[in-house]
Amino acid sequence: MPKIYTCIPDHACNNHCLFCTRPNDPKTHNMWGFVPFKKTNELFEEFAKIRSFASAIILSGGEPALRPDFFKLLEKLIELDFCKVQVQTNGRLFSNKEFCERTVSVLGNRGEFFVSFHAPNEKLFEELSGVKGSFNETVLGLKNLIELNARIRTDTVVVRQNYKDLAVTVDFLASLGVKGMELIFVHPNGRAWENRERIVPRIEETVPFVKEAVNRGICNGILPVITRYPFCVLGDYAKHAVEFHYSEDFDNYLNARVKGAECQKCKYFKNCPGIWTNYLKIFKFDFLPLD
Ligand code: SF4
Repeated sequence: MPKIYTCIPDHACNNHCLFCTRPNDPKTHNMWGFVPFKKTNELFEEFAKIRSFASAIILSGGEPALRPDFFKLLEKLIELDFCKVQVQTNGRLFSNKEFCERTVSVLGNRGEFFVSFHAPNEKLFEELSGVKGSFNETVLGLKNLIELNARIRTDTVVVRQNYKDLAVTVDFLASLGVKGMELIFVHPNGRAWENRERIVPRIEETVPFVKEAVNRGICNGILPVITRYPFCVLGDYAKHAVEFHYSEDFDNYLNARVKGAECQKCKYFKNCPGIWTNYLKIFKFDFLPLD
């Protein structure tokens, strides 16, 4: 597994998701701080520094594909010989076939697209994305990427509005030809913190639906992976958690997650991601060490 590092060129985005942790409004509370627009040469320097200790990079945001220097940035990453370049995106700009083809062609077999996908129907998707027309653009973006044989995975942030529809979301993505997806428990930070009463469910309530989605994925030839769930709520499904297989600390966890004193006794202590610190400001959570 290559060492991966996340780079955020800025927070600008063409969506306005209810659960965004890195909103494009500098006034929105964000425990990681606000990233203003970085100039091209500043990013080139940052890429070179990252390359000195990591061989794979995640270009996150905001929406990195919105940047006017997007292709220059990708070309620089290839020139620096990163073995993997993941673009985290809402997929909307890839609805433009020419734009999609150019991106896939620049990245070649080093590219990976991690596309946010919120719900299997237009009404709910756009309630969450905050933008009319975003559902059709994201779906077309996914179709274009799949048609070009690009490596893609989707991520679905699990919130109060969509957790009961996760299995249908899996069916829908499978029908498009998606082969990998992540189910991520919402992080109450940034705009998601401001909207916490509206969007953050009790974690335990979501688990049966997450399990159903995993089972549905297995039937459909997708293997959905779960992330940011403490293993003690997942039971046997902990083996489907990303963190179960990779014990490294994720760079973007920073100080955002916590475990209980009881967790020291748990067999999963090393790998388990614990729970969002901000979640514990909303709901109580009983850590249940496993042996
Ligand atoms: S008891 Fe703690 S370490 Fe064990 S699974 Fe739960 S949160 Fe993770």
